[in-house]
Amino acid sequence: MCADCFETSYYEFKTEWEFEQFAAMLKQVLRHKFATGQLRELPVDEPVASTGQAEQRFLCRSCGTTWVLSSPDNAWRGYFLPEAEAAAHLSRLAKHDKYRRLGCLAILLVVLALGLWRLMR
Ligand SMILES: [Zn+2]
Repeated sequence: MCADCFETSYYEFKTEWEFEQFAAMLKQVLRHKFATGQLRELPVDEPVASTGQAEQRFLCRSCGTTWVLSSPDNAWRGYFLPEAEAAAHLSRLAKHDKYRRLGCLAILLVVLALGLWRLMR
């Protein structure tokens, strides 16, 4: 990242209002940085996220950092991060989801075991 990049990254947009504020700021910044050639929008051939959410990518011509915007939609909170950090963030989210599913499965197995134990007494 450099001075021509964005100053703030978001790992999630906590509220719709926060995203709307960000989107309004982004629109102004992009208008300026596209005009000066500091940034350009890249086509999204292969999205970083496999969430099915729309993405936009912006390349900083000064340092080569690609920024990825994933807009929030319902439960998906979106993000605005450099591409490598976005991939790491998505990996952490997937791992967190996996542990949550395993926790639910463990609770279900304990409940079933208790039910069977009560029936067999
Ligand atoms: Zn940069």
